Amino acid sequence: MHRPIQARINLGALESNLRVARRTTSARLMSIIKANGYGHGMLRVAEVLSASDGFALLDIQDAVQLREAGFRQEILLLEGFFGAEDLALVAEYHLACVIHSAGQIAALDAYPKNGSLDVWLKVNSGMNRLGFAPNEVAQAMEQLRRHRAVREITLMTHFANADEERGVAEPLALFNGIAAPYRVARSLANSAALLRYPETHGDWVRPGVMLYGASPFAPGGGEGLSAQQLGLQPAMTLSSRIIAVQELRAGDEVGYGALFRAEHSMRIGIVACGYADGYPRHAPNGTPILVDGQRAQTLGRVSMDMLYADLSKLPQAGVGSAVTLWGDGLPIEEVARAAGTISYELMCALTARVPVVV
Ligand SMILES: *Cc1c(COP(=O)(O)O)cnc(C)c1O
Repeated sequence: MHRPIQARINLGALESNLRVARRTTSARLMSIIKANGYGHGMLRVAEVLSASDGFALLDIQDAVQLREAGFRQEILLLEGFFGAEDLALVAEYHLACVIHSAGQIAALDAYPKNGSLDVWLKVNSGMNRLGFAPNEVAQAMEQLRRHRAVREITLMTHFANADEERGVAEPLALFNGIAAPYRVARSLANSAALLRYPETHGDWVRPGVMLYGASPFAPGGGEGLSAQQLGLQPAMTLSSRIIAVQELRAGDEVGYGALFRAEHSMRIGIVACGYADGYPRHAPNGTPILVDGQRAQTLGRVSMDMLYADLSKLPQAGVGSAVTLWGDGLPIEEVARAAGTISYELMCALTARVPVVV
């Protein structure tokens, strides 16, 4: 028998989440499948989401793999190309590129074809990560319009606070002002903006995390903002089993660093899942977990291959009991919040040793 941990990918949930995105907007859908489809398997996700109008990711090799698998949609490189030597592949596989810097525009002279490159000109609307400053956009736009390599231009930006209280008002107004003189397609919205701010939808939306069934909003962020309330279904369920039980007496300590000390006698279960599987080591005592479908809590420090579940309230639970770390019945956002992170990081952190089943 194998070690009992596994990540189950629910293909129906992915499809259903794409339908939620479709229902929310009339804009074209660019499904974000970077980071191996947020840990769900890039090709698997692309196949299930093949009704998308486009796919976006980072690595040119992944984009080539998508094309070779037969995808004909727009494929966008979210950081564009990294050097002029990438441009032969960009042209051969007809990849669209984010253009975020003057250096990239200069490098475009090496593009081997005329009139076939689709570019997404990125505006820095306040996040200060990638993109042209507002006062640089007109010149970049002019250079791209005149450039022999370029076919279509899309103007894009990315929000820093669409999932936060602050929202999008400031960067949206800035972007709209910059885009006003141009008759080109626009793209602004990540999942949070797609779900919350219809005024950001433009021509292309770029949902990521919602497709995988997690809410982009913090748990307790407000009425109607949980994944369930948004109609999203978790695409990944990480599960395992209890492989041992310990009976503690008052005063007994648990795990590395003795992070937990029993105040009275109690039972704990040892779960075959640790940080080498991608479970966050920083998850403290009290992180939610399901044992035999019942809510329980972790205790002690997560170790490389195992963690501890409090079985005090689950007298029936024992060796072999099913454990859900996140997914069906236990929103990944809640686990992430307890561990001081976000669902995105947990999904991406799933490690190669965890068997993925569909
Ligand atoms: C990752 C990413 C997205 C998707 O963000 P979500 O919050 O997962 O919806 C959209 N646009 C860009 C530029 C991104 O890098």
